[in-house]
Amino acid sequence: MDLLKGKKYNIITFGCQMNEHDSETISGMLQERGCQETFSKDDSDITIINTCSIRENADKRFFGTLGQLKKLKEKNPEYVACVCGCMMQQQHIIDTVKSKYPWVDIIFGTHNIHRFPQLLEKVYGEKKKMAEIFEDSPEIVEGLPSKRLYKHKAFVNVMYGCNNFCTYCIVPYTRGREKSRSPEDIVKEIRTLTGDGVKEVTLLGQNVNSYRGAGGNGKFYDFADLIYMINDIEGLERIRFMTSHPKDLSDKLIQAYVDCEKLCNYIHLPVQAGSNTVLSRMNRHYTREKYLELVHKLRKAVPDITISTDIIVGFPGETDEDFRETLSLVREVEYDSAFTFLYSVRKGTPAAEYEDQIPEEIKHRRFDSLVDAVNEGSARRNALYKGRVEKVLVEGVSKKNEHTLTGRTEGFKLVDFKGDRDLIGQIIDVEITEGKTFSLAGKVL
Ligand code: SF4
Repeated sequence: MDLLKGKKYNIITFGCQMNEHDSETISGMLQERGCQETFSKDDSDITIINTCSIRENADKRFFGTLGQLKKLKEKNPEYVACVCGCMMQQQHIIDTVKSKYPWVDIIFGTHNIHRFPQLLEKVYGEKKKMAEIFEDSPEIVEGLPSKRLYKHKAFVNVMYGCNNFCTYCIVPYTRGREKSRSPEDIVKEIRTLTGDGVKEVTLLGQNVNSYRGAGGNGKFYDFADLIYMINDIEGLERIRFMTSHPKDLSDKLIQAYVDCEKLCNYIHLPVQAGSNTVLSRMNRHYTREKYLELVHKLRKAVPDITISTDIIVGFPGETDEDFRETLSLVREVEYDSAFTFLYSVRKGTPAAEYEDQIPEEIKHRRFDSLVDAVNEGSARRNALYKGRVEKVLVEGVSKKNEHTLTGRTEGFKLVDFKGDRDLIGQIIDVEITEGKTFSLAGKVL
């Protein structure tokens, strides 16, 4: 234990909220052993890079950052460089790290985060490098500590892994098959969080809609059941979740939006493409028509629901006509916001082997048109907010202006407004004075 006491660590996180939450766990475990966090790798005894393998861009940034650690090791031979996360679940990446970046001391994966302190102690105690990767693990390790990034909101994993095998995606290979936590463990964790001042939880999973947790009474609970249980937790004010697959979005969950006052009127519903041909080649298991029907049902049940999405441009074989269908779907839905991506080959996925890859210049041209369409929709929807009074959870000081506070509406819209810093962490009424393309401006009432 004492081997780690007083060491300064720095975590660099790439990728999604699952990774951010894993980094919170790593941080919590290190603090439990007497380590202190520092926000500069130059000032640290231990650096951990938590990697993401969803996009090619994240790979490049990872190797660039890893290269910078060499000089820290040269300056201080006791310095420990660690890499973990999704990229480390791929053998070709591990081989590259071992052969080209010999200053790395510890490699671990997504299934054995709980083992990290022991690996670190071995490196300090036995002066040897450690690489430990679990292929998959049926077990969920409960009760790990976590050092939260935010005081008033928290991420809570409800399930791990994915069974869907979308043909462009590496996640089922790096995060393994679906495993759901028990509802009791989730509720217990959220009760502890609310006792600690948390007002908003975001339930995390690659596809929360296929949650199936075994209760202590032998019964299985689906995601809507879980929402109803969490809605009863005293002190909690907001529930969000990320991410849901359209093929598994049930009527029961839509009804939960109506019944559960704490479930925020917001859904991230990744569509990926508007053409049935492309959706089928992506192995998404829904059609454009089915998706639009879901949007219609959601808006009928919850008229002011905000909807965001993910869209991939330039998937192999995407024709101009396919792309036009994506544009028309974007215009029809009129998303509140969308994450748009250029398709990039992920080694080990079926789509990487497709021969009809789209030339980069076509992808970029389509991408620009898509962004314009998304932004037009967001600006129109945000303009409708002018004059409305929104409940806003004040999250902190704006990164752009230290005299401005920033927060989120129930519909996950970012709002900037002037106010006292004492408001941070509170849910307050804000009148919206302007709707911009990416955010809202308002004044405190
Ligand atoms: S649902 Fe598809 S895109 Fe999402 S994590 Fe699973 S395989 Fe990847």
